[in-house]
Amino acid sequence: MACIVMKFGGTSMAGTERIRRVAQIVKRQADGGHEVAVVVSAMAGETDRLVQFCREANPLFDPAEYDVVVASGEQVTSGLLAMTLQAIGASARSWMGWQLPLHTDTAHGKARIGSIDQGNLIASMASGQIAVIPGFQGMTADRRLSTLGRGGSDTSAVAVAAAIKADRCDIYTDVDGVYTTDPRIVSRARKLKMVTYEEMLELASVGAKVLQTRSVGLAMKEGVRVQVLSSFVEDGAPPADSLPGTMIVSDEELAAAQQEDPTMERQLITGIAHDKNEAKITLTRVPDEPGAVARIFGPLADANINVDMIVQNVGRDRGETDVTFTAPRSDLTRCTEILENQREAIGYNRMITDSRIAKISVVGVGMRSHAGIAADMFKALSGRKINIQAITTSEIKVSVLIDEDETELAVRVLHTAYGLDAD
Ligand code: ADP
Ligand code: ASP
Ligand code: MG
Repeated sequence: MACIVMKFGGTSMAGTERIRRVAQIVKRQADGGHEVAVVVSAMAGETDRLVQFCREANPLFDPAEYDVVVASGEQVTSGLLAMTLQAIGASARSWMGWQLPLHTDTAHGKARIGSIDQGNLIASMASGQIAVIPGFQGMTADRRLSTLGRGGSDTSAVAVAAAIKADRCDIYTDVDGVYTTDPRIVSRARKLKMVTYEEMLELASVGAKVLQTRSVGLAMKEGVRVQVLSSFVEDGAPPADSLPGTMIVSDEELAAAQQEDPTMERQLITGIAHDKNEAKITLTRVPDEPGAVARIFGPLADANINVDMIVQNVGRDRGETDVTFTAPRSDLTRCTEILENQREAIGYNRMITDSRIAKISVVGVGMRSHAGIAADMFKALSGRKINIQAITTSEIKVSVLIDEDETELAVRVLHTAYGLDAD
């Protein structure tokens, strides 16, 4: 008997018919004698709809009240799944974030999980009840609702798995695993049998939204076994134990698997990701002196705005320089407002913003031992006349900023250039 956490995303929970299918998948695991906790997302599109209501109600909404609104989508689906499970003869009970409770900090809208009081949950599961938990939501120390940031149900699932020491955390979604790139963009993307925590963390952080970045970081830290697989299976399909999803594994596990199966090829590049959720901001003629960039990024950090790529150009003659950076598109209005207010203090000339950009990244541990990966990337993009606006690198990743309209083309070209296309 195993203890399993099963997480179902928005498409899997989109409507009562899909929830009925999810209930059958869950019941099959429970019938196999396993203890099961299920973490669910809101129905596909629901969180977007709720966010839009917040914007209409008050463009400068209070993040604590935003959480009250957007957490509701998961409350609906967890109640519906619990009653659907009951309807097919399974014993099930829902547990809201505040009932567990799942404790978070007070960073409303992107709260971090502190701990989970797992006692009641474990007792209930041990008594044979399937626990149904709304993803994405938690409770702050002052007993207010909090949410974990978009895509946060993955993190809820991993956190629950760590808290109850589950044997596995199965992330059911609308694709049957992690691919070399988004299979909805490149039909020749290949499914990866295994991917390391480190590579998955990097891929997720640069836009492969199949797993939320934090969920991968947490799984790596807590040693949670994560598997990505599809909930879109035939009625009567075998239970997850025998389904070929993608396992997220440690470097050692991967090396062992490769030794056992030499046909498991290892590419230099593991995957390619794109991210259209950033905006580019340029401040022109910033004083080229100590403290200038601190005056730009200090107030943004104070406002909890995550700045990503930063490019500071070579100084001009008059002791001035241009500074370009990217930040989440959803924070652009707040970002420009802050910088407008700081104009005197920073001393820049003009602020130019551009939301029509995309970040394309190639990721692979092979980069550590191989030179020329970035050069190959630039050559492939230039071959299709795609202009690069900014570049950043890490030990196992190269990212470039390009025009949003060229996203799909760039991903396809790079996928082919690095030899990732399926036969
Ligand atoms: P869920 O609602 O189940 O959480 P998401 O939409 O958050 O699902 O994530 C699944 C989606 O991630 C897929 O439909 C796919 O388009 C996208 N995706 C992006 N990159 C990848 C990748 N490398 N492998 C698989 N899916 C990817
Ligand atoms: N419903 C939330 C979202 O759409 C959380 C999740 O689905 O993971 O972002
Ligand atoms: Mg998701």
